[in-house]
Amino acid sequence: MNHSISTPDYMNVDDLRAMQLKKLQKLVAYEYERVELFRRRCDEKGVKPSDIVTLADISKLPFMKKTDLRDEYPYGLTAAPMKEIVRFHCSSGTTGKPICIPNTMNDIKVWQDATARSLAMYGITDEDVLQVTYGYGLFTGGLGLHYGGEALGCAVLPIGGGNTEKQLMLMRDLGVTAIACTPSYFLRIADVARQMGIDFRRDTKLKHGIFGAEPWTEEMRRKIEEEAGIIAHDIYGLTEISGPGVAAACEHSNGLHVFEDHYYPEIIDPETLEPLPDGEKGELVFTTLDRFGTPMIRYRTRDLTRIHTEKCKCGRTMRVIDRISARSDDMLIIHGVNVFPSQVETGLLRVPEVAPHYQIIVTPTDTLDLLEIKVELKPEIFAEDVTNLEQIRKNTFNAVKNIIGISPKITFLPPQSLPRSEGKIKRVIDNRK
Ligand code: ADP
Ligand code: ZN
Repeated sequence: MNHSISTPDYMNVDDLRAMQLKKLQKLVAYEYERVELFRRRCDEKGVKPSDIVTLADISKLPFMKKTDLRDEYPYGLTAAPMKEIVRFHCSSGTTGKPICIPNTMNDIKVWQDATARSLAMYGITDEDVLQVTYGYGLFTGGLGLHYGGEALGCAVLPIGGGNTEKQLMLMRDLGVTAIACTPSYFLRIADVARQMGIDFRRDTKLKHGIFGAEPWTEEMRRKIEEEAGIIAHDIYGLTEISGPGVAAACEHSNGLHVFEDHYYPEIIDPETLEPLPDGEKGELVFTTLDRFGTPMIRYRTRDLTRIHTEKCKCGRTMRVIDRISARSDDMLIIHGVNVFPSQVETGLLRVPEVAPHYQIIVTPTDTLDLLEIKVELKPEIFAEDVTNLEQIRKNTFNAVKNIIGISPKITFLPPQSLPRSEGKIKRVIDNRK
């Protein structure tokens, strides 16, 4: 069977920019006509659809934010008539009340195209057996990877999250070669595999992990690859912009290619809201060039990254963003210092004796806030009669402090003490809120 997915990944850059401009002009005119909030904001700024003459003119347009989706809930930002809407998705609600996005069939097809191209980028083909362990339903992970996998011709196992022993049994019995889930749930699967005596290398055909939906670090990627003998690929996306597959990592990129023919990226300074040139770090903003159900124009993701200036060795012309190591919502301010959970993770995973299971707890005290990091020791370390625990604690303290600049209290826990997650994990408990 010939599984046709589009392959604009290598498009000539001038042609790509011309295509983006055309799509942007069409989208802005469409949105201006149909979405009152957008029209009102454009009018306030004195900008009309006909003012979009070059791609740089996008900066004349107003931004959209998550609060707009909440304020205009449920249909205020929906541009298409109900007869064209075929499916709803809602965000996970990691940062508050979830938002709902009505999609048209075309929106679903565009998303499926990007997800299939992500899988193809990882070297996955119609020979692969893909276990979709992301949750199905309102969350975009499950159905997103499901349709992308089918479009590529993979044999898809739509198991969804949970029931870890069954996940492992089917993985082994069906010869699963690729699994898609959150990196934190894969850690849980690896734990249970160990308990069941399953060795991924020996007992399964697993080659690819497709991990996303939450921030994870380069250190975590290496750890997973070493432990499971697989390639851990990064996939990024968000419900507002469609779902997973907005950007995906190729083997050379050291970041993720954005499928720019569908999703136009900008980086802005989150304080001044001015666009930043490629290369500078700031907040990622997207315009959904091909979505007409609930189009997003200059949507502020609150995710922090930069767009690379150098071309990727793979030859794709789609621009590359740094791996999303932090969402600005996750930023903790402790003793006046900005701390991201991913920085703590990077420090912790440099210590060979600790396991990748941790929790960050911030508690107010009479003097300064206390930053406590609870982290599990590796089972093999814990099993030994550790005499050098104080040394390991000192190393862990230093590894974290060197990155975040403030002194954490390190508490070691036995294996399996901290809660595990089947979807996005919650690693931070902020008792100041
Ligand atoms: P919510 O905002 O409720 O979590 P979504 O389920 O739509 O809603 O999740 C989208 C968010 O998840 C992104 O904005 C980003 O912060 C995070 N995310 C998704 N994929 C990745 C990834 N590969 N790396 C880091 N963060 C990611
Ligand atoms: Zn590349």
